[in-house]
Amino acid sequence: MNFPSQQIGDFSVTAISDGFLSAPLDMLSNIDPADAARIQRDAGVIDPSAIHINCYLIRSETRTVLVDAGAGGFKQWGGRLRDNLKRAGVLPSDVDTILLTHAHPDHIGGLLDSTGEPCFPNAELVLHAQELAFWQSDANLHRASERARGNFLFARRVFEKYRDRLRVFVGEEVLPGIGAQPLPGHTAGHCGYRIQSKDQDLLIWGDIVHFPHLQISRPEVSIAFDLDPQLAAQTRVGLLDMVSADPVSYTHLTLPTIHYKCRYRWWPGD
Ligand SMILES: [Zn+2]
Repeated sequence: MNFPSQQIGDFSVTAISDGFLSAPLDMLSNIDPADAARIQRDAGVIDPSAIHINCYLIRSETRTVLVDAGAGGFKQWGGRLRDNLKRAGVLPSDVDTILLTHAHPDHIGGLLDSTGEPCFPNAELVLHAQELAFWQSDANLHRASERARGNFLFARRVFEKYRDRLRVFVGEEVLPGIGAQPLPGHTAGHCGYRIQSKDQDLLIWGDIVHFPHLQISRPEVSIAFDLDPQLAAQTRVGLLDMVSADPVSYTHLTLPTIHYKCRYRWWPGD
């Protein structure tokens, strides 16, 4: 099976699908759900409420790194990561580092197996200090809605299972050749990861858009999953401007792919 791949200097980056989740269009703000459905239909989207979940495998001679771990079947979302990794020639025990863009369940569900134990026995789990602090805060938990409360408890369970190999960062340096880029708004410590090697670079930007056809042309459209919808929109607008000439890869693109180039248009595999 061929997975979309890109060589960035010494690193090969491969998009690996975990499957998809479903989110009704009325979870969007700043757009009428009927307009949203029309834009999705016009773009040829068959199931307008499907949000695709992609993870990224970064390999070098010495490292096997995964960015996010998919939903792993949480609420019956996704769950295909492990099989797809195997098809790409990677076993869970091969992964030495997992970089989290953030700790929503569709990004950390795949860290636990069906018995609730760690799926990646040798991986260090790395995330922004602010992201960990947000989910560990009892004050935040008590303020949370019913839906969000489940996310808190789930994130805490995952962190507990990986507690002996959890690493948080505050600056940009994460691994040699891989740096973090804070992209606040979607969650408190939401980050992208920039891979830089031999004059080439690629940004994996996490949850900047959930519905690419809607939010790239209408960046003011936010989703109820955003912790701070206004800040998320601001970050999205700024980033779309910044990456207008840069390659970028993202979690919820309809098909797993590597490049997004040129503002308001995308070319899979370009
Ligand atoms: Zn998210």
